[in-house]
Amino acid sequence: MLAAGLLGLGGCAVGSSPAPTGRAGLSPVPAPADRAPVPASEPGYRPATGVPTVVSHGPSSGRRIALTFDSNMTEAMLRRLDAHQVDSYANPAVVDELQARDAPATFFLSGLWVQRYPELTRRIADDPRFELASHSYAHRGFTASCYTLDPLPADQMAADVERSFAVLAPFGGRQTRYFRFPGGCYDRAALRALAGTHTTVIQYDDVGDDPFNDDAAGITATVLAQAHAGAIVVLHITKGNAPRTADALPGVIDGLRARGYHLVTLSELLTATH
Ligand SMILES: [Zn+2]
Repeated sequence: MLAAGLLGLGGCAVGSSPAPTGRAGLSPVPAPADRAPVPASEPGYRPATGVPTVVSHGPSSGRRIALTFDSNMTEAMLRRLDAHQVDSYANPAVVDELQARDAPATFFLSGLWVQRYPELTRRIADDPRFELASHSYAHRGFTASCYTLDPLPADQMAADVERSFAVLAPFGGRQTRYFRFPGGCYDRAALRALAGTHTTVIQYDDVGDDPFNDDAAGITATVLAQAHAGAIVVLHITKGNAPRTADALPGVIDGLRARGYHLVTLSELLTATH
């Protein structure tokens, strides 16, 4: 109830429960059949030309795991910031912890967030251990029903994604064409709308459940419990609605390494051949 109420204020919800065991790029949102998520690995599924591939994990050979962090920012969140109802939606302590432990990571940043927090964006871009990816421009819903996110018309989806990459580009660093849907919500229509954007859609299969979660040890345990070779972990760098992520990170990083996993960027995970 608490989380649902806060989500009404424009928060990003990326799964409130552990990822499905199928690891097939599933949206956490139950959807009607005609809007059902379309795992790239679905038997017989042939994407149309140019439709982005959907990836929710890397190869299980090797013991690599990619930590990824989303930043979300909606127009409603900007209004809350401007009204001083929230101190900040940036969490530099996440970067502090990663750098202190020499941990690579991939950041999915939304355009409105980048424009509000250029200094933290620059800090991420300037570190060769980190790579940059898109989490859309305005963090609107790419399906008709995605938590409380304002639905984005299909004919505006490609432009929104391109705009987010255009906002990121001047920061340089390790740019990618990876894109993550707000809320992890997508369907066939959303994938078709992004045909020609030359993006790869990145989902996740290790959900840290850090939004609106005050239990740092619980976040750590949740990530470790789902860890497996090839996992893509999703956490947040959005302090105002994911307050304890940085506190959970030492346990996450040390715990994964103690279990023999190598932390890598998403590019390194997805290009690994052995
Ligand atoms: Zn998000």
